[in-house]
Amino acid sequence: MNVSSARLLDGNRIAAEIRQSVTPGVAAFTSRHGRAPQLGIVLVGEDPASEIYVRNKVRAGSESGLLVDLQRLPATGTLDELLQLVRQLNASDGHDGILVQAPLPAAMGRSATQRVFDAIDPAKDVDGFHPTNVGRLVQGRAHLPPCTPSGVIEMLDRSGIAIARTHAVVIGRSDIVGKPMAMLLLQRDATVTVCHSKTPDLPSVARQADILVAAIGRAAFVTPDFVKPGATVIDVGINRVTDAAQVTSLFGAGAQRVADFQKRGSIVVGDVHPAVAEVAGALTPVPGGVGPLTIAVLLKNTLAAAEARAAEG
Ligand code: NAD
Repeated sequence: MNVSSARLLDGNRIAAEIRQSVTPGVAAFTSRHGRAPQLGIVLVGEDPASEIYVRNKVRAGSESGLLVDLQRLPATGTLDELLQLVRQLNASDGHDGILVQAPLPAAMGRSATQRVFDAIDPAKDVDGFHPTNVGRLVQGRAHLPPCTPSGVIEMLDRSGIAIARTHAVVIGRSDIVGKPMAMLLLQRDATVTVCHSKTPDLPSVARQADILVAAIGRAAFVTPDFVKPGATVIDVGINRVTDAAQVTSLFGAGAQRVADFQKRGSIVVGDVHPAVAEVAGALTPVPGGVGPLTIAVLLKNTLAAAEARAAEG
C-alpha cells in the first residue's frame, strides 16, 4: 500500500476562494452598469471532454453572476463560419469576454486554432492567447493572463509556497500551458527550465526542480525518479484512461480509483504517477487540482475584461 507523504493542494478550495472574491465584483459591476459582464463561449462539435469543460465553465460563470452565452457550431462547421461568429462577438457591445474551446475539429485545418485566436479582440481575449496578449505577458504586463498557468500561480501563492529564488522546471512547451507558465514563473523570480519531448535525460533535469510543473498530456508519465524529495509538484495533465490493467497498475487493486473505474469504464488521471506522493513535499491532485483554478481565473479575467472595457467607455 502506498504511504502518501505529500501535502495535497486542494484546487477546489482555492478556486472557491477566488470565486468568492469575483462574485461581489460581478455584482458591483452589474449594479453600476445595469447589465452583468458577459462571457461568450464557442463550442465547435461534440468532443466529450470539451463538452464537460464547457458545461463546468457555464455553470461556474452563472453561479458567479456572469451572463454566459454558449454558441455552438456543428462539427461540420467551417473555419469561415467560426471566424464570422468570432467577429460578431467582437462587435457585440454586450459581450466582454470570448472563449473558443480548443481543440477545434481536425477538418478545420492545422492553422485553424491560431487563426481563431488571432481573430479574437485582444480586449475580450479572456484566455490570453491573442498575440498581443502573449506579447504583453512576455513583457510582464499581462492584463488577461492565460487561465491555467495563472491558476497555478494562484495555487502556489494561496498555499504559501514561495516562487522567488526557486528552480522551477516546466515539462511541456505548448502555447496554452508550458510557455506562459514559464513566463509567469520567471516574472516571479524563479529560475526556470523548460523541458519538452526532445529534452535529453528528462528525469535528471526534472529532479533539480523545487517546483515541478507537468503539462505533457501523458498519464502518470512523471514517476518518483523525476522528483527531488520535498519538491512541489503541479500536475496540469488531464488524461482519460480506459484500460483496466493500467488503472490497477497505477493505483493498486482495491483502491478507490479502481472502484471508480469499474463503475464508469474510465477515469481521469494526471501526468504525475501516484507514487510521486511518497517523494514530493506538496502535490496537486487530478481531478480537483489545477482544473478548478483554470475556471476560477476565467471568471476573474471576464470581470477584468468587463471593467477595462467599461473604463474605456
Ligand atoms: P500539448 O500536447 O499542446 O503539449 C504537450 C507538451 O508536452 C509538448 O510541448 C511536448 O513537447 C511535451 N511532451 C510530450 N511528450 C513528451 C515527452 N515524452 N517528454 C517530454 N515532454 C513531452 O498539450 P497542452 O495543451 O500543453 O496540455 C498538456 C496537458 O495539460 C494535457 O493533458 C491537457 O489536457 C492538460 N490541460 C489541463 C488544463 C487544466 O485546466 N488542468 C488546461 C489545459 C491543458
